[in-house]
Amino acid sequence: MPATDAQNLAHHSLRPSRSQFTLGRTVSCRGIGFVTGADVRLELHPADPGFGLAFQRLDCPGTAPVPATREFVLPRSRRTAIGCDNVVIELVEHVLAGLAGMQIDNCLITLDAPEPPGFDGSCRPIVDAILEAGRVPQNAARPCRSIDRPLSTGKSGRNITLRPLTRPALAITYHLDYGPRSPIAAQNRTYVLDPETFSRDIAGCRTFVLDDEVAALKQQGLGLGLTHQDLLVFGPNGPIDNPLHFPDECARHKILDCIGDFALLGTDLHGHIHACCTGHSDNHEATAMILGDWQHNNLSAAA
Ligand SMILES: [Zn+2]
Repeated sequence: MPATDAQNLAHHSLRPSRSQFTLGRTVSCRGIGFVTGADVRLELHPADPGFGLAFQRLDCPGTAPVPATREFVLPRSRRTAIGCDNVVIELVEHVLAGLAGMQIDNCLITLDAPEPPGFDGSCRPIVDAILEAGRVPQNAARPCRSIDRPLSTGKSGRNITLRPLTRPALAITYHLDYGPRSPIAAQNRTYVLDPETFSRDIAGCRTFVLDDEVAALKQQGLGLGLTHQDLLVFGPNGPIDNPLHFPDECARHKILDCIGDFALLGTDLHGHIHACCTGHSDNHEATAMILGDWQHNNLSAAA
């Protein structure tokens, strides 16, 4: 392929599509962290174009903000954590989902504990804080990259496939199936990212656990002090002492998790994510695969 064509293609996959957005003013919220049980104050601050999303621990004086990008992801089970130079922020995915779902591209997130508040396991309070602050367009284009060819990761029954979309949008299909004996029914949901529908259809969907898993999680020190009202816990007959917000709330929450984890790419993504029975580690494998593919394409284009 002549270099000029290759360069055109590379240019095509990295295209500005909309203005960057930040917040109209600083807003705050407060709550208990799921991992540490800490009482946390979190603030969302406006930031300049190109700043991106970054977390700063105010309880670690003198330390720099940790960028919320793929390279700072730490290995964790069932959650997403980022860290740099011994400064770690646990369970960042729901805050990131709130920001990415509302298309807030530049924001400094400060907190005075090792993790954001867990709230009710959703990102509703983050989205409400964003709506309170207002979304402000900035004089800079938001970089956007697209999925140009099918990519997949995982194995049979648990995998993510990424496909090109004919329109400039991010679609996510999540298929959840824990088997016929699970108290959580098999469910399937497709969602196309848009700030208005995100607030209505996804933001309030809560994380969930099986009652069988609660003891093991508490043994690891997770979720201590939480009750069935604080979190969606499924017993043999469905959610315990807590009505569902949607019949397929679990699949919707998994989409929320995908939006938070894929925000770590640091650009808009256009394409269709098909996720089947996956979690955070699969999302991180997928984003590493996408970044590897883009890097490979850029290298081929430069050759
Ligand atoms: Zn989650």
